[in-house]
Amino acid sequence: MDVVARNGFPPPLSCDADDRTDDARPEPGKIDLKRIERAVREILTAVGEDPDREGLIETPARVARMYAEIFGGLHIDPAVYLQKTFTQQHDEMVLVKDITFSSCCEHHLLPFTGTVHIAYLPDGQVIGLSKLARITEVIARRPQVQERMTEDLAELIMRELKPRGVGVVVEAAHSCMTIRGVKKPGAMTITSAMRGLFKTNPMTRNEFMALVFGHRG
Ligand SMILES: [Zn+2]
Repeated sequence: MDVVARNGFPPPLSCDADDRTDDARPEPGKIDLKRIERAVREILTAVGEDPDREGLIETPARVARMYAEIFGGLHIDPAVYLQKTFTQQHDEMVLVKDITFSSCCEHHLLPFTGTVHIAYLPDGQVIGLSKLARITEVIARRPQVQERMTEDLAELIMRELKPRGVGVVVEAAHSCMTIRGVKKPGAMTITSAMRGLFKTNPMTRNEFMALVFGHRG
């Protein structure tokens, strides 16, 4: 586990892999910036661009740093944010709504962005509210599909906090649906993952859904 930097994320680290041509991945915790640069240059050439013209000359390095940032969550264990809990006899639902996020679809490497709503029913232990935003931020920074991101958030909270139940709803717009393919701007994808009492008790689930969606429309 890398030391977590001031902003909560370790800086992108480059490994020395300039001459690497095989499929070996960089060491754990490192991102091979030079390799990304070469790949971006290849893409620019392949689409018929001149990667050496003035406007593009720094693009491969810039894109490499961008990927290091948006995929930085691959090298952080989000569980570290759920280790500090507080004993609190609060047995009603805790809900944090409208946590904004930006992630990247693993099928097209295009962003999907939206909001996450997370609720849990404590079993004697609560966590700092900002930690739900922290784990969302870490889990979002991976190539993935929205369905798995939703499940991963619910599983993580169940495993680390051991509450009586967890509900996660993710609402997102996928740019792979708006700028290419079926081209449907405005379409929202909603996914949910229910664990514990959120799965087994319809009243708990309904309360959660009403708090998330009730005031809309
Ligand atoms: Zn996609």
